[in-house]
Amino acid sequence: MEFEIKIGLETHVELLTDSKMFCGCSTKFGTAPNTQTCPICLGHPGTLPVINKKAFDYTIKVALALNCKIANFTQFHRKNYFYPDLPKGYQISQYDLPIGLNGYLDIKLNSKVKRIGISRVHMEEDTAKLLHFGETGRISEATGSGLDFNRCGIPLLEIVSAPDIKNVTQAKAYVMLLKKILEYLEVSDCNMEEGKFRIDANISVKKLGDEYSKTRTELKNLNSFRFLEKGLSYEIKRQSEILNKSEKLYLETRHFDSKTMTTKSMRIKEEAQDYRYFPEPDLVPIEISREWVDEIKKTVPELPSIRTDRIKKQYDISDNDVEIITSTKSMADFFESCAKIYPYPKIISNWIIRDLLYLLNQEQIQIENCKISSEHLVDMLKMIDTGSISGKIAKSIFKEMFKTGKMPGDIVQEKGLEQISDIDKLTDIIEQVLKENPEIVTQYLSGKMQVFTFLVGQVMKKTKGKANPKLVNELLKKKLK
Ligand SMILES: [Zn+2]
Repeated sequence: MEFEIKIGLETHVELLTDSKMFCGCSTKFGTAPNTQTCPICLGHPGTLPVINKKAFDYTIKVALALNCKIANFTQFHRKNYFYPDLPKGYQISQYDLPIGLNGYLDIKLNSKVKRIGISRVHMEEDTAKLLHFGETGRISEATGSGLDFNRCGIPLLEIVSAPDIKNVTQAKAYVMLLKKILEYLEVSDCNMEEGKFRIDANISVKKLGDEYSKTRTELKNLNSFRFLEKGLSYEIKRQSEILNKSEKLYLETRHFDSKTMTTKSMRIKEEAQDYRYFPEPDLVPIEISREWVDEIKKTVPELPSIRTDRIKKQYDISDNDVEIITSTKSMADFFESCAKIYPYPKIISNWIIRDLLYLLNQEQIQIENCKISSEHLVDMLKMIDTGSISGKIAKSIFKEMFKTGKMPGDIVQEKGLEQISDIDKLTDIIEQVLKENPEIVTQYLSGKMQVFTFLVGQVMKKTKGKANPKLVNELLKKKLK
């Protein structure tokens, strides 16, 4: 039997502000539990929230980047439900008046563009973090539970896609692009391991030709690209099998279990949950002026797909390399600041992709926190060009710059790494090598040309890699004649 699939994704993103959504508490990650709280984010009676302006600005910025219409007027609502992670008994969120509406995101797959609608972008506050004690960390097997209110009240963005996604590949492409855009906008670090970028999915499967019923599954806990892929695939298969057996599907919430890579039912609902939303009486409604929107518009940088296309054209770099170089904004910034002061972009991208990325991965650090600046790299490339260091020595200088942040010139001086281009000196060394390897010389002279590289290697070894390789080649050939 053939099936059709409809997927909508809800993405929650913690915004990168210093303080929380409605109080002055810090949003720093990884501190001791319940050390960043106050009566407001703990929901004490009588306290009053104050809106974080920066979080509001960021939301407008994201909505603009996702091609949304920005509301003229917006308001916060209370979403009422009872759960221990919500001390007030309600979450301050947005209901019928979100900040951004009716946008879209164009994903590219096999050089074809597919447009995914963005239904809404709105703001809310994050809940506390529930920790289940015990070996597995799962609620069903826990010996007890704890609450960390440090997360409670952190500004949270909710981005809801239209159910335009037709398969797992599209879902993954959408999420990857969305994450990249948010990183380019510098509104969130989108760290998935720290739960700052979380995905829920709504999935409906129907037989080809049938109408979609209301029995979609809400799938929770898809918090890595791998889980997203596994969770969606499992759920599509599960629903298809039920339809194949002509059994009934339910409107239900399911949890993705990353251990078994399957989904488990959390609750079956008869109809959509009623949260009894009502306007938050402690916050004034907000008019968003066009001047305000225009101000924010100026802060939206060149977005990933546009920048990728431009860099490819401007610097004539291969598709593959340009994808790597623009994978993060900071990497693209690094590349372009080098290209501004050094005219060979291909050489720059090679050093970034082969050497810099290797070291960054090895040390697990981000390019923006690394000690090599564009000046470091370009100074070193110029030293190769003028022949004062060899390409081989450059590799070790690069590692040293990465470790210490010293300029290449200083490293060369300190370690005596300057390339040897003195003809007399090199001739002496070559004569020595020839004297030490009479058999090899005979082999060469009898026509075994491939031993030549061995002799070059010996000269390089004697000079600890500092001999000018081009010159060594020339002089050695002359001598052997
Ligand atoms: Zn607080």
